Amino acid sequence: MITDKSAGLFQKAQTLIPGGVNSPVRACKSVGCDPVFIERAAGSKIIDVDGNSYVDFVCSWGPMILGHNHPAVVEAIQEALAKGTSYGAPTPLEVELAEMVTEAMPSVEKVRFVNSGTEATMSAIRLARGYTGRKAVVKFDGCYHGHADAFLVKAGSGVITLGIPGSPGVPDDIVKNTISIPYNDEATLEKTLRDQGLDIACIIIEPVAANMGVIPPKDGFLQKLRALTAELGIVLIFDEVITGFRLSFGGAQSAFNIMPDLTCMGKIIGGGLPVGAYGGKKDIMDMIAPDGPVYQAGTLSGNPLAMAAGVATLKVLQEPGFYVRLEEKAVSYADELKRLAEKYSMATTLNRAGSAMTCFFTSGPVTDFASAMKADAEKYGIFYREMLSQGIYLAPSQFEAAFISDAHSSEDLELALEKTEWSFKKMAG
Ligand SMILES: *Cc1c(COP(=O)(O)O)cnc(C)c1O
Repeated sequence: MITDKSAGLFQKAQTLIPGGVNSPVRACKSVGCDPVFIERAAGSKIIDVDGNSYVDFVCSWGPMILGHNHPAVVEAIQEALAKGTSYGAPTPLEVELAEMVTEAMPSVEKVRFVNSGTEATMSAIRLARGYTGRKAVVKFDGCYHGHADAFLVKAGSGVITLGIPGSPGVPDDIVKNTISIPYNDEATLEKTLRDQGLDIACIIIEPVAANMGVIPPKDGFLQKLRALTAELGIVLIFDEVITGFRLSFGGAQSAFNIMPDLTCMGKIIGGGLPVGAYGGKKDIMDMIAPDGPVYQAGTLSGNPLAMAAGVATLKVLQEPGFYVRLEEKAVSYADELKRLAEKYSMATTLNRAGSAMTCFFTSGPVTDFASAMKADAEKYGIFYREMLSQGIYLAPSQFEAAFISDAHSSEDLELALEKTEWSFKKMAG
């Protein structure tokens, strides 16, 4: 595989952009190689500047559930583009997307659009603090909620990948109000809430963790969380930036039938353009300016191109049978992966939720941050490089999800399995 053009661009980029990238994991540091630079993508394939084509399991970290450049999404963006790119004033598209989102997400009565998942979570905790008049925020070890100061305590995603404990630049005064506890641990959850409940404004959780690799909640964990937060007047925030429109059209809250007070969204909701959103119960959302005193704003929020892409994406997702079809593909792919791991005696644990999965290089089980950390990230790096060289584009970190999109054909998945077998054989032998 020739990657000369990528190598040249990466060299230049490093002189101009920190680490040569605009988001840390993209630098591929933890998998021991340099990134390829992307020229274009279509359907399930992504093509680099040297002309190498890959079956893409990153899917832009989740948004591309329809695959790249879906014709309906492209057409919607083009239609909006012809009219103008930004007005800083209300548009019909915002109302249309807001209606679709509130209909899809059972707990969301009102929604405010922002430009990223980070903005959504950051705004949601400000709102929860404003609503309750309390300061503390509880999160779970290894969950990622974007890069706002309050969340950079035992965070997931790039923070784990690069082994950063917290982050310089985040004042102690801020993180002293953040309590991070282990995922899936009912006893610690109950003790923390019983001891400190009346100081706690909100608990934020990924209802299925996907930023320390995919880790589903244990049976009863989310129910317990809902019951305790309701009892203690704590705002329960589901960070559905990944799970929203991924686990089901109504996200994890529909799949598990648990209603949070606030929901954060991102990724799929923008159909590949920068969109985030937060929403929830009317009485809480009415605290936001201009109806209420909690301030939050955005010059480009509700951008017409982004709204158009979101509306078009959500329309396709509503087609009957969409999620059944996607899940069936993911299940059979995951089953085959497990079979191959056994055949080549690879100590792995495959966690899957809907069409998102992680193959951890540990005999497992992987149920929380501590058990995820037992995975052999170096071995994953070897696997990653073998797969990349064979035309399969995986996340450049052990602690991220692989996503299957509607565009992945059975040929794409068979090819990926064939290359997996080739890589496992080489690694075993
Ligand atoms: C990606 C992600 C975020 C942050 O979204 P950005 O758009 O990258 O700011 C927040 N929460 C979860 C669960 C995510 O996966």
